[in-house]
Parts: sequence; structure tokens; C-alpha cells
Amino acid sequence: MEINGTERQALLRQIPAVEELFKTEELQQLLSLYPRLLVLTEAREVTAAYRKKILQGELKVPPEKKALAKEIAALLKEKSSPSLRPVINATGIILHTNLGRALLSPSALAALQTAGRSYINLEFNLTTGKRGSRYEHVEALLKLLTGAEAALVVNNNAAAVLLVLSTLARGKEVVVSRGELVEIGGSFRIPEIIAAGGARLVEVGTTNKTYLRDYEKALSPETAALLKVHPSNYRILGFTQAVPLAELVQLGNQHGLPAVADLGSGLLVDLTPWGLKDEPVVSSCVAAGTDIITFSGDKLLGGPQAGIILGKKVYLEKLKANPLTRALRIDKLTLAALEATLREYLNPEKALSNIPTLHFLTKPEEVLKNQAHHLARHLRRTLGEKAEVNLEKGTTSAGGGALPSAVLPAWLVTVTPRRLPAGEVAARLRQGNPPVLVRIEENRLLADLRTVAEAEIPFLIGALKAALNF
Ligand SMILES: *Cc1c(COP(=O)(O)O)cnc(C)c1O
Repeated sequence: MEINGTERQALLRQIPAVEELFKTEELQQLLSLYPRLLVLTEAREVTAAYRKKILQGELKVPPEKKALAKEIAALLKEKSSPSLRPVINATGIILHTNLGRALLSPSALAALQTAGRSYINLEFNLTTGKRGSRYEHVEALLKLLTGAEAALVVNNNAAAVLLVLSTLARGKEVVVSRGELVEIGGSFRIPEIIAAGGARLVEVGTTNKTYLRDYEKALSPETAALLKVHPSNYRILGFTQAVPLAELVQLGNQHGLPAVADLGSGLLVDLTPWGLKDEPVVSSCVAAGTDIITFSGDKLLGGPQAGIILGKKVYLEKLKANPLTRALRIDKLTLAALEATLREYLNPEKALSNIPTLHFLTKPEEVLKNQAHHLARHLRRTLGEKAEVNLEKGTTSAGGGALPSAVLPAWLVTVTPRRLPAGEVAARLRQGNPPVLVRIEENRLLADLRTVAEAEIPFLIGALKAALNF
């Protein structure tokens, strides 16, 4: 039933004034927890929302003081709790860009703490007492681990590619195969980054086939670099042809042009035994004579967000001298975590267990199967009639969006809710505490324990129980 203007005015008058709300016990309590201004702002926001509802005819009874106070308290609680929260990632996707990519090793976490707590010799040479370079702390390590002549680290790999192009090819041409003009996700597109670097893109070959002669024909006095991009998140299969990096390097050498490789992930250890066979190992790209190599710190390397640039000293000197390097520089926390992560690689065997990304990638199938088996048994007992729980062999990809198409074996615990749609249960899991992410397939929830820590499993069980409780 519609209400008329007079009734509406009467309703509006019945919304308690903010001063009245402040006299309630509930708000007096809030004032002992939050600054007055904050409580006042929320109180105004809540009453304004009610006023709007009445004016739009959506509300026909006045709100009670107690209900308003409760809403204000809930809003304040929400606004004063952290926005970034830990999430249980039961999707099995190890490098989930939306979930923050790589988890850090204990040593990297410790380094973060130290760098945050104490003054550090970030740009200070303790031997000479003079100004030092922040890059020194990782350059020697990177050279040692990869065999490169020189190294530099910037904010992320997108910044690394931008810096390289802007330094070496501004106002000139960059030659790229049409099969490598990719979009990585998060709006990183090769043609756009080349334009942003002030260079002109010269496309060669076709989507599926590019030959060395295609590059040769494209060379001109305007050519500044040959660029090879690892098509991280997609594959061209079937009738294909690409020029190996070593041949591109050779062509560059013949014409005095740098060959630049954007590797994307940047693997420091060979992971072919674990199914990652499409990933080039950084040291082999260096050994092939590649003039400049760039890759991310937070993909397969398993460190913090960073863009690592390796290569010949002559080119790296130019990059270091570019004023853009200052704008793209990494901060001390990143540097600390990166140094600690790189140090793990001095003992590759230990790195496989200490660096969470590598640990997840190399989890033996037997372990995964056992964990899934235990979880399924536990869930059957806990959930009873509420859902059907099964175990199923499946697959997982190493990383969503920005990563290789490597397919890893998975043992999935499947949960089919009997009285709720799976999407509804998944939404409840997302909004729970802690939030839990699972995969959804038809009307089933799929949990992959590859990316779940042992200590998180009880919370995962609790979350499923709560989400199915209605
Ligand atoms: C991921 C990726 C990038 C972007 O790296 P960020 O570290 O996310 O900036 C660039 N190129 C390739 C080939 C990639 O895979």
C-alpha cells in the first residue's frame, strides 16, 4: 500500500535524532571504543540511509533506536577491521594473482621484519662509510645464481620491460613475432608496453609460424632491439614454428642489436621432473648469450613482487643511468625479502622445501592423495546428511592468468551440498572467517589441498560445516 506525503513526513520525524542516539547505552559503549567523530559520522550515515528509504517509499515503519545503534556498531566494526585478510586458498592454483601470488619463505618473512624494525645499510657502504647502492644487495647473488654479467631490480616485470624498451628503443623499432604479442592479464599487453616505452612495434611472422628470415627481413637502420616474449598464459598448438632464443641472439649479434627476452616467470631451478617443461630456466637463457632478460619476483621464483633484469654489462649500465629507474625502484622491504629468497637458491634442495611456491609445486602425488583422503573422511563424519563427499583425481594449473599452462596432478575432495546450491555455499565460504576459496564445478565444491597448509585444514573443515549449516 502506498503512503502519502503527510505520512512520509510523519515517518521521517520518527527517525531518532543523532543526539538521541548518543544517549543510548549502546552508543555510549561505542564511544569508549571509537573516537566521537567516527561514531557521529556513522550515526549520520545510518540515519540518512533510513531517511532515503522512507522518501523512496521503501519503508513504512520507523526504525527503532536499538536497531539503529546495532547497525552503527556493525559498520564501525567493519570499518575498523583490516581490509587485507588471510584467505584459505583451496583452489590448488599456486600463483593466484588475485590472491597475492607467491607466499614467502620463513627467511624472507624474517628479513621483512628486520628491515621494517631496524635501520639498515640500504644505501650505505659500511666499509667505506660512503653512500652505497640498494641494488648491490642482490646483484652479486643474481650474478652467481644465473651466470649473468650484471643485474638490476625494479618494481615488477612490467616495469622491467618498460625500462628496457624506454632505454634502448625510444623513438626506434622493436621487432616481435606475431605469435608473442600477448596480453598477460592485469592490462599488461606487449603492443601497449612497447608504445608506452616510446618505441615502435614491428610485427613479424604470423600467429602460428615465425621464421628467422621473418626477423631478418624486418631489420632496418631504425631497429633498436629484437624482443622475445614468453607467452606465459597461452599456447599455440599444432602447425607451429617459433625461433629459438639462441638463434635470435645470434641474429642480434650479427647486426649489433640486443636480443631481449621477457621470460615472465623466471625459473631458477629445473622443474621438468614436476611437469613444468615449458618453462625456460634463467641460467640457460643467460648461457645462450641473451643480452637482456626480465622476469617477475613473485611468480615461480617464489619471492616478493619485483622485476628482475639480467644481462650484459653494457646494457645494464644504460638502464641504471635512466632516470626512469629511480621512479620504478623497489623499496627496502621488497629488497630484503628478495635477498632472502635468492639466498635460499644457494642450496637448491632446501629451496624446494623452504620456498612455499616450490614446495607446493613439487608436493608428491602420494602426499596429496593422503591429505585428500583424510579430509574426505573427516568431512563425511562432520557434514553427515548435509552433503555428499567424494574423492576424485583431477588436475591443477600452476598459476591463473599470468602463468604457464603447466598441468599438475590433483586429488580433489568434492562436496555436493544436498539442500543448497553449490554457488550459495561457495559465497558463504568466501564471506566466512577466515574466508575460504574453493573451485566450483556444476553443483559441486572442489577442494584441492595442494595450496593449503596443514594448520589450515581444521579451519577449512569448520568453514564448510558453518557454510552448510542452515
Ligand atoms: C607476468 C608477466 C609479465 C608481468 O609481470 P609482473 O611482475 O606481473 O609485472 C610480463 N611479461 C610476461 C611474459 C609475464 O608472464
